[in-house]
Amino acid sequence: MDLFEYQGKQFFATYGMPISPGEVAFTVDEAVGAAERIGTPVMVKAQVHTGGRGKAGGVKFAATVDDVREHAGNILGLDIRGHIVKRVWIEKASDIAEEYYASFTLDRSAKKHLGMLSAEGGVEIEAVAEQNPDAIAKIWVDPVDGLTEEAARAWVEAANLNPDATEGAIDILVKLYRAYVEGDADLCEINPLIFTPDKRVHVLDAKVTLDGNSEFRHNDYAQFDETQPRDERESAAHEKGLQYVGLEGSVGVIANGAGLAMSTVDVVNQVGGAAANFLDIGGGANADVMAGALEVINNDPDVKAIFINIFGGITRGEEVANGIVEAMDRVQIEAPIVIRLDGTNADEGRAILQPHLSNALQMEDTMLDAARRAVELAS
Ligand code: GDP
Ligand code: MG
Repeated sequence: MDLFEYQGKQFFATYGMPISPGEVAFTVDEAVGAAERIGTPVMVKAQVHTGGRGKAGGVKFAATVDDVREHAGNILGLDIRGHIVKRVWIEKASDIAEEYYASFTLDRSAKKHLGMLSAEGGVEIEAVAEQNPDAIAKIWVDPVDGLTEEAARAWVEAANLNPDATEGAIDILVKLYRAYVEGDADLCEINPLIFTPDKRVHVLDAKVTLDGNSEFRHNDYAQFDETQPRDERESAAHEKGLQYVGLEGSVGVIANGAGLAMSTVDVVNQVGGAAANFLDIGGGANADVMAGALEVINNDPDVKAIFINIFGGITRGEEVANGIVEAMDRVQIEAPIVIRLDGTNADEGRAILQPHLSNALQMEDTMLDAARRAVELAS
């Protein structure tokens, strides 16, 4: 789950990190009201699930309430990298002496948490990593040991921040690590972490990704779940209880079992095509499930061919075949379907499908041939 900046800041604040006072606003009038309560000068900040808002005109300084009116008017409705701004965060403006970067994420290959800290914040960290990798001080934290203050101090010293920022930075980094671990986050990033002219270290931006699977441990995460942007196709699929991930290609994929579904996506790629989705219908491939899956795929205008790849294990071939035939009666399918049916009772299943075969419903013996056929039909 990706959090908006203001949600990320509120999440950080619960771990004691210093953030600026602010309010969310959905309209220009609400933005003006917020600025009046907070007191100008304020920042008007677009809340979208993407970075680089400043460059796109989504972060503006407002010296007066009139400025707030103007900026909020411009920012609400703005398209930032395909995300339309529906809410802004009005925040007390900070004075900045220096901008730093700090983050925690997981380094899977090291089996450790990776902390990154840089005196060159404010800009995209990818650019720093490319142009001046030495400017990023990294720390690998063993999850069993956690981040000690001592280790945090050495890390801060390696990053060459302003010496006056050392204590404030250590305090925030230890809290950031706690938030990241106890909050079940996949990413906690502060860019910029600022050092102010009056020598305070302060959180100015927040990018937080929480592990959605940890929701059962955190009663308050439902509010974040509600504000997730969802692929329309994915919402429709989830309502039907299907394991679906939307992709960019033109071959709709239906398979039973996550492993087979992934292999199917790979095989489609291997023969030069691209899958429009990943869809695992699980063990039971009855008519209801199959009709649901076909409906979801059918509603995707990018799908030009459908590849149904079934390997019968516990699910028997004739059940799957009957499910497909019945589902095709129920759903008016736009794209041609290619089926590969193998495994338990595959012969019986194929015999059931045989009389229904046409240009709209084709069958191949192997997964590879079926993928080739589907890709051909899609192009
Ligand atoms: P991003 O562009 O999406 O990363 O949005 P940020 O929240 O990081 O803001 C972009 C830039 O705007 C920051 O790097 C700062 O330089 C500037 N900025 C944000 N808030 C303030 C503030 O309170 N005071 C000042 N002076 N500049 C700010
Ligand atoms: Mg930023």
